Amino acid sequence: MRILKMQSKFLEEFLESLSKFGVLYGPTWRNGVLTYDRIDNFGDLALVDEHPMIPLKKLLHPKRFDMFQFDEEGFTPDYSLFEKRVVLGVHPCEIHGFLRLDDVFLEEPSDPYYAGLRKDTAIIGFSCLPTENSLCKSTGTDIVEEGFDLFFVDLHEFYLVWVGSSLGHDMVYEREEFFDKTVTHDDIQNYIEWRMDRDGMFKRSFSYWNMPDIMELSYDSEIWEYFGRKCLACGQCTMVCPTCNCYTLTDIFDVTNKVSGRRERVWDSCMFVDYSLVAGDHNFRESRADRLKLWYTHKLKAFGDEYGKPACVGCGRCVETCPVDINVLTVSEALLSGEVPKD
Ligand code: SF4
Ligand code: SF4
Repeated sequence: MRILKMQSKFLEEFLESLSKFGVLYGPTWRNGVLTYDRIDNFGDLALVDEHPMIPLKKLLHPKRFDMFQFDEEGFTPDYSLFEKRVVLGVHPCEIHGFLRLDDVFLEEPSDPYYAGLRKDTAIIGFSCLPTENSLCKSTGTDIVEEGFDLFFVDLHEFYLVWVGSSLGHDMVYEREEFFDKTVTHDDIQNYIEWRMDRDGMFKRSFSYWNMPDIMELSYDSEIWEYFGRKCLACGQCTMVCPTCNCYTLTDIFDVTNKVSGRRERVWDSCMFVDYSLVAGDHNFRESRADRLKLWYTHKLKAFGDEYGKPACVGCGRCVETCPVDINVLTVSEALLSGEVPKD
């Protein structure tokens, strides 16, 4: 993979020039909340170490949209959300997050909505330093080797820039004057030292690679009942998790004397009581304990059995979000110890 160098003073002008390749999106503060949104004024772009609370999945797998309109003759797909976009400031765990979504949505038969949005979205990755709850060192998602068009590592006076796709090459080619093609041994040494310093900044970790076996042994553990009694079934953990991708469908009929309407797709959560409700009023997971067990089994074991890597990318959002302190840290600690936590 090609590595280039850019002096920091050229960054803003280069990123602004990427609007030629699509509408610019990136992290920005809205009413005190960091969120991915359109960047109309470049000064609004927030290249910070924190992650937006709602992950990048919202741009690739939107939380609510119309899939198609239908009438008595048939249906017409609605692809009006598709647009060429360039997302700036995407952190490594976020990239790993949508690579997991690729596994799910691009597997044949692929999801045309996700596939279209993904194809039209260029990713400009940025390095970050660990924040209070970063767990990406534990999950091996602190670096990326794929999933981006360009990836910038901030080494203060300059950036090292990895070119990850032919589109990335085109972006560089447009403003070649900003790039230095001679990356020296000292530059790489600086990068290695930056990684070593950063590795020492992580404050939290968990026993990620042992979790598949621990989950297997913990199916009947009382720990699930303990967490089930605390859980509020609010679904926040699933909304903020970059790899959660469940949705529900509703047909909304027009009020006319002919059959017509639209099919709407909305994020769903396996933490909601009606998620596993089926015809005949049977519910496979009526208890909160069962629903939590499903989520953690899927996240830390079952996804890995199917796709070769677990579905937690260590972003730490569940740690920051759950109002009653149920998250990958507290659950994995309890399961590893085999003891029901003491309140
Ligand atoms: S389980 Fe928690 S830490 Fe892991 S990816 Fe989901 S929100 Fe992030
Ligand atoms: S685990 Fe926490 S965030 Fe998730 S549904 Fe339960 S209370 Fe809400």
